[in-house]
Order: sequence, then C-alpha cells, then structure tokens
Amino acid sequence: MRKPLPQTGADWTELKSVMADYATGDARWREGKTAVYVFNAGPEIERVQKEAYALFQSENGLGPAAFPSLKRMEEEVVGFGLSLLHGPEEACGVTTSGGTDSITMAVKAARDHARKVRGVAGPLNMVLPRSAHLAFDKAAALMEIEVRRIPLAGYLADPAAMAAAADDHTVMIVGSAPSFPYGLIDPIGALSDLALARDLWLHVDACVGGYIAPFVRMNGADIPPFDFELPGVRSMSADLHKYGYAAKGASTVFFRSAELMKLMTFDFRDWPGGRMITPTLAGTRPGGAISAAWAVMNVLGVAGYREKQGQVVAAREAIEAGVRKLGFEVLGRPQLGITAFAHPEADAVALWTKLHERGWFTSLTTEPKSLHLMLSPFHATVTDVYLADLAWALGEVRGKAAPAGAEVRYS
Ligand SMILES: *Cc1c(COP(=O)(O)O)cnc(C)c1O
Repeated sequence: MRKPLPQTGADWTELKSVMADYATGDARWREGKTAVYVFNAGPEIERVQKEAYALFQSENGLGPAAFPSLKRMEEEVVGFGLSLLHGPEEACGVTTSGGTDSITMAVKAARDHARKVRGVAGPLNMVLPRSAHLAFDKAAALMEIEVRRIPLAGYLADPAAMAAAADDHTVMIVGSAPSFPYGLIDPIGALSDLALARDLWLHVDACVGGYIAPFVRMNGADIPPFDFELPGVRSMSADLHKYGYAAKGASTVFFRSAELMKLMTFDFRDWPGGRMITPTLAGTRPGGAISAAWAVMNVLGVAGYREKQGQVVAAREAIEAGVRKLGFEVLGRPQLGITAFAHPEADAVALWTKLHERGWFTSLTTEPKSLHLMLSPFHATVTDVYLADLAWALGEVRGKAAPAGAEVRYS
C-alpha cells in the first residue's frame, strides 16, 4: 500500500486530467446506466449540490456557535423532514453523515433507553425483519447487542413472528419503509400496534423511502401510514443523499420527543479540551453536506420533488411492465423507487453479468435470486434502452445453467 508522496507539487490542471483518466473505468451513471449507488436527478440538481457544497465546505457543523448559518440550515432541513413524516410538535432530529450513522445513533439511544430508563440488566437483543439493512447489525456489533433476524412473510416483516421473538431484553424492533432488497414497505401499522402493546422501541428505517414516499403519496398512490403518524414509532432514519437528492454525506435521524433524542447526544467534559456536545457519531461535521441538502430541498420544494419522484415511479412502472412481458416476476408490489424481479428460466447473476457487458451497473437480491434496480428520475429517459438490453441478455442466458461460483460483490 505504501506510495511516496510526490516531492514537488503538480499542476492542478494536469491533475484534473489525471483524475478524469482514473474515472474512465467508473460506472457511467450520467448516462443512466447505474441503478445503485447514485441518485441522478439531472444536471441542474448536480450543479446546485456542487455550488451549495462549495459555499460551506470549510465550515464545521461541530461548532453551531461559530456557524449559526449551518445550525439554521440544519434545523430547517430537519424541520422539512419532520413535517413530511408527520412528526408531532415535540419531535426533533439532527442531520448525520448517512443512513448507517442515523441507524447507529438511533440504536444507541434505544440501547440507553433500555439500560437507563427501563433498567434492563444483562444481555440485550434487537428484533429485525430478515430484509432490514445491515447497518443494524453493524451497530449491534459495536454495542454488543444480539440480532434476531426474523423470516419474512411475502417479502415483508412478519409482525406476529417478531412479537414472538421479542422479550424484556429487546432494545428495538425495526420495520423498513421500504426495505432495500425488495423495495417494499413493511406493515408498519401492525409493528406500531406491537410496539404500543409491549412498550417496545420501534424504529422505522426510511433511509431509502423517507424522502420519496410522502411525494408519491401526494401524487396519488395508496401509501399506507409508515411514519410518526403511527403512535408506536419512536425513531426514524431518512437519507437526504438518496431520494432527497442531496450531495453525499447527508441523512436525518428523528425522534418522537426531545427526551428520547437526549439519549443519543454525547455530552462530555471530563478531559482537558473542555465540554463538547456531539449529537451524532461524528466530531467534525462537514458544512457542505448540510448546505447542499438545504439548497437542494429549497430548490426543489414540494412541486419539484413531486415531479422528480413521479419520474422515478414512471420509470419503475415502465420497467415492471416491460420485464413482465419478458416473463419475469416482480417480487411483491413495489410502490416507490426500488424493484426486484426474477425469471423462471434465467439465472439472475448470469443476466447481471450480461447487462454489465452493455455498461449497466445494477444490483441483485439474493432471496430469491433476482435483478434489483434502485431508480432515479433520469432513468425515465432510458427505460427502453434497459429493456432492450435485458431482452438481449435474456436471449443469451435463457435455459443455460448458472455460471459456477458466480457471485456479484459490491466491494
Ligand atoms: C441505504 C440504506 C441504509 C444505509 O444508508 P447509508 O447512507 O448507505 O449508510 C439503511 N437502510 C436502508 C433501507 C437503506 O436503503
């Protein structure tokens, strides 16, 4: 891994071309060929992200007293999120570096709630549907919490089975809105009932849905209640850098009350550096991530988001109609931007590999093996290209055995 730092600095203009050269092997997301990792809301939004990020890239959200600008923008961003997700008057939240940060901090608050408020001693556990994001396992690993992943019913969380798995040592139960592997919204209403009946902490992971579902509902879809509207929901995660179309490094974590959020905040003074209060895992908090999220949200507004999210849904519907014509089965009934589909006569990994030959970088669901797409507004313009390439790929691999040992890894 060692590489000596150049003895003398290089010319920036030349370096820019070196960087462009490094990027030639990257996924071609600006052409709409990537349906994972990047949320492409078009060049106008990309420009706003960049300019707004640059304006505050040196400022630090760790210092709200030094940078009241960032504090104000963060409060407004959190306020937008809470109003979209039916936060009650006492609800609050903060911006974080991403979904994993938001989830980790919600788990930390729930863990402290179990220990300090409910007085739970001994081992702790967390009850998740099998489709929940691995960020919960990462947080559980850090905090030595046992994870109980419960089998799904029809690709959705099974509230009865989760009820049976929860006990007095359960710090949190989780529902996703939607889950990453299937793009389906778990039965959050039933999980909320369970949480109220048993006094359990219900976290709704709306990392990939929190900033699309409200607008898809406004556009007329029958999205069931999934947020603070349900009284059993104590915390939520919603990523700005996904369907909020913010620059990367931005998410939100919300709590039903300031009392619950207080369990997350780290307030420390027993060192020579003086008192420091940090709400999230981070110390230094990049100002640009906050300013870019603020700018994009204000540039889009409700009308802009409704339009962009309408394009996402249109892309998903066009692709679902097309893949059904090719003989694929869509898993469940997706309503937002993610869809997964399998073909009875074609191996998904083999299809993925063929599509990759044509420049597509998409993802896979493994149970059952399926192609998986996380769509962006820009995809509405390339659905025909995708479907044509998929038809070609299907012709190539149909009826053939799955390639031996083939596995797609993301890192
Ligand atoms: C993306 C995602 C996360 C994790 O977010 P990161 O920003 O990648 O850390 C958590 N849950 C769901 C459902 C997600 O889609």
